[in-house]
Amino acid sequence: MSECYHGDEELQFMSVTYHNLIRAREVTALRAKYCPEVELYYTFQGYNLNQLERVMKELNGLHFEGFCLATRALPWNKLISMMLLLKYYRTKKIHILAGSNMPTMAVGAFMARHMFDEVSYDSHNWLYYGMKATFRFYGSMGTARAVTKVEVPQHIQSLTCNCPHCQGRSLNDIREMSHGREKQRLLAMHNFYIETKTARAYYNHSKTPEMLRDFLLAHSHRKKLIMEMYDALSGIYEMRAYLGDDKFVKGLAEYVFQRFKAR
Ligand SMILES: [Zn+2]
Repeated sequence: MSECYHGDEELQFMSVTYHNLIRAREVTALRAKYCPEVELYYTFQGYNLNQLERVMKELNGLHFEGFCLATRALPWNKLISMMLLLKYYRTKKIHILAGSNMPTMAVGAFMARHMFDEVSYDSHNWLYYGMKATFRFYGSMGTARAVTKVEVPQHIQSLTCNCPHCQGRSLNDIREMSHGREKQRLLAMHNFYIETKTARAYYNHSKTPEMLRDFLLAHSHRKKLIMEMYDALSGIYEMRAYLGDDKFVKGLAEYVFQRFKAR
């Protein structure tokens, strides 16, 4: 999706938020009446910090257990800056919509470890890529097409996977399977397994920003992106004691929003 200019984003924000705020009031009242034990998240569909602040003002008095953020509108640095501002508003749980990629999963794991009680995300990529005969790699979340008509470098073809589904098959073995349900099923199960294992590894390596950086560098070639993510996360990590301060957190969120560009 190409970058929208600001006017488009504001119009889009206004049109969805008008309805979202009305529904938020209705659903909050219905929840209180019929199912107070069910957790309720507000879905923020916006593009910048000013829009999030305006929504938080409008939601004043309504209670939500968490907030949903959409990665389509928010690349990793904007996701971090929204999370910082939500932390300032005492949010405890975040759900990321469609977050099955390396930067979102890494940021989510780090924030889950240091800022929030819980950060969750949903994904259908494991299934979608399985149907499209695409293999995902542990640690990088990179992909390769496992079909003979697509050329894959020899050193990648010969990689073997020891997950419970591939059981030692090489990428080339999978590539040469005829296209059909058996291959799609194997790749979907492999992808699900690898994605879950990668998410867990990101969380386990998020104790410090350095550990996360080193794990990512060991598994992915996206060095520029990884080093920028490290710059952002280590800055936040060092200053985490000040995140309750209104002016400070807004300044930091704005800085992270503007400063980082790597994809
Ligand atoms: Zn596998």
